[in-house]
Amino acid sequence: MLTVSHDSVVVELGLLVGRMACPDCGGRLRPWGWARPRVIREGLGTDWMVRALRPRRSRCASCQGTHVLLEVRLAARRADAAEVIAAAIEAKTVLGWGHRKIAAGCGRPASTVRGWLRAFAVSAASIGDRFTGLLVRDAPDAVVLWPKPAGFAGGEALSVLMAYAEGLARRFAAIVRVTWIQAGIATTNGRLFCSSLWAAGPNTNRPLRGALVGGKGGRSACHIPVIGVFTV
Ligand SMILES: [Zn+2]
Repeated sequence: MLTVSHDSVVVELGLLVGRMACPDCGGRLRPWGWARPRVIREGLGTDWMVRALRPRRSRCASCQGTHVLLEVRLAARRADAAEVIAAAIEAKTVLGWGHRKIAAGCGRPASTVRGWLRAFAVSAASIGDRFTGLLVRDAPDAVVLWPKPAGFAGGEALSVLMAYAEGLARRFAAIVRVTWIQAGIATTNGRLFCSSLWAAGPNTNRPLRGALVGGKGGRSACHIPVIGVFTV
């Protein structure tokens, strides 16, 4: 699975001209049919709607591995758009709301919202640790972005994610606006809310996978697919 731009034209063009890198070996990805259809719930409150989509599938010209291309608005293994889950996490972390109040605001079942919050809470320490390392590595002026201590793991993780997104935006001289959820989803290839990804615990020394740095040679994490127009 690989996170890509939400702009299907950019994705198709990237595949056709070989600008998209395999997350395993850095080889060029080519079009390879379509993944099975899925349904996503978007929007908040009473305005939410269902959107049907069929993600693109790609195949690496080098290692022959296949990868489903998931747009940056989608989180792996979640039926709701990433922005919706992000709103719930912000409400919990910043405003201190409980899951029932958040669920009412989102227009989602309380059990679903509780699942999002728990997944973020159990992985918060690892998320904070990982993105702190990325912030130090990728944001040369990190000192001015550095968040104040929040005093709890969820707050620390959200603060670091926000700082990392700001660092990416600064790196591109604010040509694009990168939200913390976009940065988190793109950097983890959609698995930001998958506790299995973080189960190994904090590890600041863990290297980025090939796709996150644009393949072999350790290019910048700013070449993450979310900013597809900047791939080189
Ligand atoms: Zn490959």
